[in-house]
Amino acid sequence: MNFCELAPSYVRAIAPYQPGKPIAELERELGITGIVKLASNENPLGASPLAVAAMHAAIGDIGRYPDGSGFDLKKALSERYGIERAGIVLGNGSNDLLELAARAFLASGDRAVYSRHAFAVYALAVQAAGALGISVPATAGYGHDLAAMRQAAMQHEVKMVFIANPNNPTGTFLDSGKLHDFLRTVPSRILVVLDEAYNEYLPGNVRYDSVAWLRDFPNLIVSRTFSKAYGLAGLRVGYALASEQVADMLNRVRQPFNVNSIAQAAAVAALQDEDFVRRTCELNYEGMEQIAQGLSRLGLEYIPSYGNFVSCRIPNTDLNEGSGAARMYRRLLELGVIVRPIANYEMPDYLRVSIGLQSENEKFLSALEQALGETV
Ligand SMILES: *Cc1c(COP(=O)(O)O)cnc(C)c1O
Repeated sequence: MNFCELAPSYVRAIAPYQPGKPIAELERELGITGIVKLASNENPLGASPLAVAAMHAAIGDIGRYPDGSGFDLKKALSERYGIERAGIVLGNGSNDLLELAARAFLASGDRAVYSRHAFAVYALAVQAAGALGISVPATAGYGHDLAAMRQAAMQHEVKMVFIANPNNPTGTFLDSGKLHDFLRTVPSRILVVLDEAYNEYLPGNVRYDSVAWLRDFPNLIVSRTFSKAYGLAGLRVGYALASEQVADMLNRVRQPFNVNSIAQAAAVAALQDEDFVRRTCELNYEGMEQIAQGLSRLGLEYIPSYGNFVSCRIPNTDLNEGSGAARMYRRLLELGVIVRPIANYEMPDYLRVSIGLQSENEKFLSALEQALGETV
């Protein structure tokens, strides 16, 4: 009996998500320590000390179920953003929210639109719901082509559009004017999921207030996460902001206790620690400069990024040996540096590197320089 055949064909067709390689795994494989992981856009500072203290304090109550309504965290978010609690949905990471959106609104045969090279979870969530994903060609600079996405959404009776701003793995960014135009011109029956996982990293001159747009666009779902700038990736906590009706539907398909109690306590504390987020952003800007300059010095092209990562192009020196990026990825592993190949994003010549501490960025750049020297 082949149990795979018991699963619906759309489940069998799902290509599994490819996570970054864990440090412990590479340590086991190579028997070396001091490995630098710049593969999953994690915060190199770890978590805010306030969040860590809140986690310790929450451990005493761990025998009890978490608050399924997320009272304290929703209260903190509601005060931060000036929106009603009924318009907030908590998720086990913002991945969870992307899935909840797909599961709540997409039925078998429905259609959803996203950009080529956009975050992989959109396609996975759509497919797991039995719906059909339409991948729209990107702009020349690997960004979302909103005009083409709007056209695809209107032509194919699409129910949901996913937009990542900034996008991962390309780091591309849509300014507020373009986004607002999109929301104004797309029919209001189409739900727009605006994934802002890297929102906190945006420099002041391009920041925009998507939360204020919720008043005018009840079809908008804004998703954010504590995994990136707040440094809580291992805890799994994110949130979505939406109109009350949309939030109500997401809550109906959510597991009652999808966000654990430690994560809820940590997230409340992390929200208060604005200083930590500021230090995170400063470190990121400096590290981005350091890596961008290093890449230029090595003659490598990269896509200018608004996130805490950057994708660079590795030239193909030997066409008989497959993609240069794939070989570079493996060579960097041997040198103790984990980055992310993004062939599964239809970018086989690119590697994505997360911005780390200054010393980690340095180790990446010197390993890269060494590896480039070997291939000539
Ligand atoms: C990292 C990331 C997320 C979410 O991660 P969670 O840890 O599940 O919150 C969502 N969208 C994009 C574009 C990301 O890069």
